[in-house]
Amino acid sequence: MLYIEKNSNSRGANALRNACHALDSTPDTEASYDKLDSSVRREVLESLLQEQGHVCAYCMRRICLSGHPKAKVGNTAAIEHYIVQNPSEEYRERLPDELKSYDERAYSIDYKNLLAVCPGGSEGATAQCCDKSRTLKSNVNQPLRIDPTNETHIKRIEYYTDGRIYSNNPDHNVDLDQLLNLNEPAFSFAQNRLATLQSLQRKIQDTFSGEISLEQWTKYRNSLVAAEATEKPPYLGILLWWLDKKIRKASRR
Ligand SMILES: [Zn+2]
Repeated sequence: MLYIEKNSNSRGANALRNACHALDSTPDTEASYDKLDSSVRREVLESLLQEQGHVCAYCMRRICLSGHPKAKVGNTAAIEHYIVQNPSEEYRERLPDELKSYDERAYSIDYKNLLAVCPGGSEGATAQCCDKSRTLKSNVNQPLRIDPTNETHIKRIEYYTDGRIYSNNPDHNVDLDQLLNLNEPAFSFAQNRLATLQSLQRKIQDTFSGEISLEQWTKYRNSLVAAEATEKPPYLGILLWWLDKKIRKASRR
């Protein structure tokens, strides 16, 4: 998982605002997600994908718009509502006090509440992840507490040496491991993260000789983020976490 900076002025956000305004201006109609035209939803999804560098907001695998040349089974992006639509009573009860009486309709069309996600598991598969895992009976009444649009939450994420993800915050850890199922062996998430990290480590070994300075580490990190501004590498989260550790260590020397 990576920090997502929401852009309320993106094309998709504007298209959403305009469509909702048009719906609200129609007699006896109130804007809601269900009433949005599919072309508006697609424009929103396009902006969400740009915002996130074309990786799933939760598991960080590559996702594409349907019809995109790189689209295939298992990587088609969908829109996810961080605070869910049609919540159960129990879900509502478990929300923080300030959200207990939240306006479902308003949240369904709030750009800040929308994320681009992967399709989870395949239809009927026992293993599910991301928003699909949230809808399982065991998880459906539990709101997510970790929020990818909250930088402080993201900073508490760490990784085990085998590539599994965890958080220092116990509630967030339950969300990562159980609600979103981000260590599920069926998706090879841990192996994929580890392979991504090892590939970066090899690249660094080939690029630098001797001790790497703080300036070099910082420059490398920045180049990685900047170079991939439009399409982030899948599982970038573990790379930045590792590089940040190196940067902290170098700054203490
Ligand atoms: Zn995902």
